[in-house]
Amino acid sequence: MENLWNENDANRYAAEAKAAGQPEALGLRVYTSRIIGQVADLVLHGGGNTSVKVTDANGDAIMHVKGSGWDLETIEAPGLPAVKLAPLHAARKEKKLSDPEMVALLRTNLLDPSAPNPSVEALLHAYLPFNFVDHTHSTAVLALANQDHSEDIMREIYGDRLAFLPYVMPGYDLSIAGADLYDQFPDCEGLWLKNHGLFTFGDTATQSYDRMIDFVTDAENYLAAKGIALPGPESSDQEIDPALLEKIEAGLRTGNSPFAESLATDFRSTPSIRKYLSNGNLETIAVRGTATPDHVIRIKPFPLIVSANATADDITAAIDDYKARYRAYFERNAPNASEKKVMLDPWPRMVLVKETGLIGLGANDKAARIAGDLGEQTARIINAAEQVGTFQPINEADLFDMEYWSLEQAKLQKK
Ligand SMILES: [Zn+2]
Repeated sequence: MENLWNENDANRYAAEAKAAGQPEALGLRVYTSRIIGQVADLVLHGGGNTSVKVTDANGDAIMHVKGSGWDLETIEAPGLPAVKLAPLHAARKEKKLSDPEMVALLRTNLLDPSAPNPSVEALLHAYLPFNFVDHTHSTAVLALANQDHSEDIMREIYGDRLAFLPYVMPGYDLSIAGADLYDQFPDCEGLWLKNHGLFTFGDTATQSYDRMIDFVTDAENYLAAKGIALPGPESSDQEIDPALLEKIEAGLRTGNSPFAESLATDFRSTPSIRKYLSNGNLETIAVRGTATPDHVIRIKPFPLIVSANATADDITAAIDDYKARYRAYFERNAPNASEKKVMLDPWPRMVLVKETGLIGLGANDKAARIAGDLGEQTARIINAAEQVGTFQPINEADLFDMEYWSLEQAKLQKK
């Protein structure tokens, strides 16, 4: 993983922040967030988050943390809303919060009430006692973090430099568990989140960023030393048979499909994708779950799988089967939720055409491209993970909790 830090660029971001009346540290935070965000093998589309702690003009400690709706790649200072730190620390000593209560706490303590919601991982950023905190969902890390023996692998690579966190649902629970873990191992330089990703931190922008790049590089080197190839993102080099695409699109536009009015597709076929789609166990591997929890919100817990020579009837049957499977997943898991859940539409967001290529689905080109990007990263992660051992992401109950998160449901019920 190439370290993209450039001293001239960093100085320019710091100087521009200063000229705009902002802390130089915020300028550096924007800069390293962007050089993280522009690398698909660190974060994709709104994934990951970053923060910086500064002192405001009144001498109060505040934190700028990534706001929802912003991508690290293109982030600007308004995308890192400022939150007062003291009330967040006070809340840690009080009762457990629900995720909506946590969001309310963060919103109440925004310096600008019109700013976007701080990241759902903001409390963890707040509780880590470092000026800079960086969080990514790196491809190489996810190939190793989605293994049952992920902790042993982490120890082998990093020794005590990282602390290991078993899977915890993002939001309030993850924030507290991560902060407690850090307190237990205050000499660590980062947190390894099983089935999720990596946190690093440091006193300076470079220290936290360098640690992220170094740790990801260590994960890549571990794979390489085992002879496991993890080629970078590749260009799509094959077209889909137009007749097949037409049949798939027709199947997806029928009935009460969310795509009845508008369907965009993003087909891609690369050597890595074809390798994944040629795996003899594709039908079992592909439905185990997503490579990092928040992907489930974009691509659902499992894809639709069809053959390259499928007829229109085959495709209709596969879609019917998908919907039945999705309803069964909802009905198995909804009764365990603490509040009543409303079922999302049971239609796929990802199609895998065996041995051929994958199709990201969306109501518009951007949504389809995002689904395609996540599908492609998943293929690359699973190729490597299955050579390390067995790709073992979070279980179905945890996937459900994430897909039907109260914060996501709240948005849905408002509509
Ligand atoms: Zn995350």
